[in-house]
This record gives sequence, structure tokens and C-alpha cells, in this order.
Amino acid sequence: MICVSLGRTRHKMMIAEHQQLAQKGAQLVELRLDWLGNPPDLGRLLKDKPTPVVITCRRSQDKGLWKFGEDQRQTLLRSAIVAGVDYVDLEEDIAGTIRRYGSTKRIISYHNFDETPANLAEIHQRLASRDPDVVKLVTTAKVPEDNIRLLEVVKNAKVPTVGFCMGDLGVWSRILCRKYGAPFTYATFSAQRTMAPGQLTFEETRDVFHFDQINAETQVFGVVADPVAHSLSPLIHNAAFLAQGVNAVYLPFRIPRERFEHSLKALEALDIRGYSVTLPHKVAALELAQTKISPTAEIGALNTLFRGAAGEWCGANTDCDAALASLRLSFDPAGDPLHPQTDPLNGKRVLILGAGGVSRAIATGLIRAGAAVTITNRTKSKAADLAQSLGCVLAGWENRGAVGTDILINCTSVGMHPKVDETPFQQHWLDEAMTVFDTVYTPERTLLIAQARERGCKVVTGVDMFVRQAARQYEYFTGRSAPVEVMRDTLKKAISVVKVT
Ligand code: NAP
Repeated sequence: MICVSLGRTRHKMMIAEHQQLAQKGAQLVELRLDWLGNPPDLGRLLKDKPTPVVITCRRSQDKGLWKFGEDQRQTLLRSAIVAGVDYVDLEEDIAGTIRRYGSTKRIISYHNFDETPANLAEIHQRLASRDPDVVKLVTTAKVPEDNIRLLEVVKNAKVPTVGFCMGDLGVWSRILCRKYGAPFTYATFSAQRTMAPGQLTFEETRDVFHFDQINAETQVFGVVADPVAHSLSPLIHNAAFLAQGVNAVYLPFRIPRERFEHSLKALEALDIRGYSVTLPHKVAALELAQTKISPTAEIGALNTLFRGAAGEWCGANTDCDAALASLRLSFDPAGDPLHPQTDPLNGKRVLILGAGGVSRAIATGLIRAGAAVTITNRTKSKAADLAQSLGCVLAGWENRGAVGTDILINCTSVGMHPKVDETPFQQHWLDEAMTVFDTVYTPERTLLIAQARERGCKVVTGVDMFVRQAARQYEYFTGRSAPVEVMRDTLKKAISVVKVT
């Protein structure tokens, strides 16, 4: 179950949004009475309430907005109990002064906005001794490992316990607590009105992470990155799990660069089955992979970690496979894009714009496929290093329009949302005989893609590559063929929202 927190300054708005939430399918709503500008009118708020409610009224010392007296607050909480509300939230220190009555369930809560203390088990024991129906233990993650300690307490609890970490580093624990027995989690009405740092929206919690379907057997996957909030990978992997009825969840793990090795080791305690790996960890992750799927070692970076038959970590670079497969299919739609009998890329001249990680991955694959690769980059020294290490040709950034090529690939971030009116290659340099591949996928129709189409070039988009790299990861994760069309539709829908907002 998902408890949606609702805070508005006006009764009228709180009642209206409560109705809206019920229409959207919310099963439990927390009314944050401390948000109201006037003294709360319980009768008005509870009359015809469309869902079960949690009544919460936080003081300023608990980061709440209550501006009236403490006696008045406790009277309000008692009145809520007398009115028979479903749950009432009582902070640890007042739990003893507000008695159990009727059928109202008591949530005994502890919040720590500064840290995740070392004595979590002791705090939990204290809360559990205050006659709770549910213990709520919420702290702030300062390092990713804090989540693991907190989830351990949830798992070992004898009383139903809602426990997770706040903050950017704790987002995933809000979902994963379900696997360890949390009866519900908290989500917000809208992304614009979060009640606590790191809170997800009701829709994300329900429709992206499928919180209510998580159980003790659910396998866990995720993306490790920093930052990670923008990642579209949770959206498409979770959609794929749902489509195939796989009992698994895919989470966003924000892991700071300097903690990568330590945090991944600590996460072993949660038996994570696979990761997508992205910036800035693609090189560091190589160390973890006991087996490297070719040409991962040659590329010197990976984007996928998955468990091999003996439980060991295997590393793969699906960016490379995906980019080559997308290109091959544009030349030979009926061919096998991963293991072609005759490789359509063999002998092709390719000009790559950019000298970052994606450029290196794609260039390595193309050279192995027999293509003649030229690298150009805004920062010349990086292009020179890459060209030298791969043994390919270097071109000056200012001369890129004059390089004769069959395939042009944009591996820079130029043209990416929100700078959608930029292109790394002028239209009059394009030739209709070229195939133009833009790895940027937000938006799908970049200015480069639009101008190449206008010019009559064959085009390959970053969406095609993104879906293929995710689908290949999914295959490594699950051993099944990926529901590629579900993943593509989900990604396209998400990108169209990015365009509008
Ligand atoms: P990266 O290592 O940070 O490299 C970024 C590249 O973009 C560098 O070559 C950089 O040039 C260049 N660049 C940035 N701003 C520029 C500008 N204003 N003018 C010219 N060049 C500029 O990033 P990466 O991991 O290789 O990713 C590159 C792009 O690939 C991303 O932006 C993303 O859109 C795309 N991508 C696509 C997929 C997919 O599946 N479709 C997956 C991953 C990434 P300097 O060296 O001069 O800074």
C-alpha cells in the first residue's frame, strides 16, 4: 500500500485533492494538518472522506509547520482518535500521553533529518515499546550504506515497520522497504510539493516501481550513477518486468564516485542481481567484473554488471552492441544485427563527433567490424588520445565538414534537451548518400536528425540505440528476450513528456 502525503494551507484544497487522489486509486492518504493555515476543522476534513487516512500534525522541531500550541495539537490528535480515523501518527515522546482508543491504529514515528544514527536497532526497540500498530523509522542517508542498515532493521522487526532513508541517496529505500516487510511507504501528491527530501510521487511509486507487487522474493536490479534522478532506465526496465510478469524491481542507486567500490560491496547484502552502470562509474566498474564480455575490456568501460552462472559479476558494454546493431539494421533490415553473416559495416567510412565514453565504445566496435573510423572532437587533445589508442584517423574539429564519410555519428551531447536548437554538424555539410546517426535521444528528433532527413539521408536515432542497449541489458539480467516494443513505447512516451515540460 502507498500512503500519499497531502499538505495544503486551505481546507478546501486539501479536501479537493483528497478526492482527486481517491479517483486516481490512492488507498491511504496522510492528511498533514500542520500545513493548514487556520486551526484544523476535523469534522470538515473527515466528512465523506474518500479513503482511509493517517492524521499527522508535525511540530516545527520535527520539521513540521504547526504554528499553534502543543496542547492544541495533542487535543487535535485525541479528537482524531475519538472520531475513529484509521491511523494517527504520534511522535515517540507523546506516544505515552495519547492513549489507544477504538479502532484507530497508532503509528509511532521517529524522524531524523540529519543522519542515520548508529543505534538504529535501539531506537526501533524504543518505538516498539510505545504500543504501536506500526513503527515509522525515517532517517537521512549520508552514504548509500545507511539505507542498508535501515532496511536491516525493517527486516528484523517484530512489529510492522515502515522504514526508509530520506534524501537523494535514500530514494531507493522508499521502494525496497516493501521487500523487507514494510506495510506501506509514503509518497507525495505531486513532484512540486514533496513533504520530505527524496520523496517520490504517488504515480512514480505505483506506476513506475509497482510498489504493491514487491514481495520477499522480488529480485532487485538498478542503475548506479551520480546523478541518477534524470535516468529513464527505471521506467523502461520496470515496464519490461511488468510486461513479462517477472517478479523484479529496478531502482535508481545514486552512488557518489568516491564510494563506488565500498557501496557496491555493501550492497551485496541485498543480493542485487544486476546493474546498469553509467556516469561516472563506467570505468571503475570494470574492476568488479570477473568475466568481461568482449569487447568490454578493449573499450575499457562497461555499462552492465550481471550475475554469471556461479554468481560472479560479469561485465558488458551494451552501448557498443546497441549502436552497431542499430546501424547494421539500417543497411540490412533482415540481417542478424549482432552476429551478421556479412557485416554491412565492413569497409564503411565513419566520422565520429566526440571523444567521450560513448564515442570510444562505438569506435571500438566499428573498428572490429572493419570500418574505417575518423575521430573529431571540440577538445583536440582528447580526440588525439582516442584516435591514437584505437589506431584510427584524427580530424580537426574545424575541418569536420570536409571529411568524406559514409556514416556520420554524433557522440557529443550537442542537440540534447534543453538546447534542442543546436547541431554539431551544419546542414550544408550533409550529403544524401550519408547515413546519419545521432546518439542523443532527448529529443529523438534532434536538429541534426531533422536536417539529415530533409537532406534525404538515411537516419538512425538515439532512441533506437537506447532501447537496444537496455534490451540487451534486460537479456543479460533475466536470460529472456526483451519486450523491445514495450520498452520503446515507454521511452518514447517519457521523452514526449520531457519535450513538453
Ligand atoms: P562524455 O564522455 O561526457 O563526452 C561528451 C562529449 O560531448 C565530449 O566529446 C565533449 O567534447 C562533447 N561536447 C559536449 N559539449 C559540446 C559542445 N558544446 N560542442 C562540442 N562538443 C561538445 O559523454 P558520453 O558518455 O560519451 O555521452 C555522449 C552522448 O552520448 C550523451 O550526450 C548522450 O546523449 C549520448 N548517449 C546516448 C546513449 C544511447 O543509448 N542513445 C547512451 C549513452 C549516451 P569535449 O571533450 O570537448 O568536452
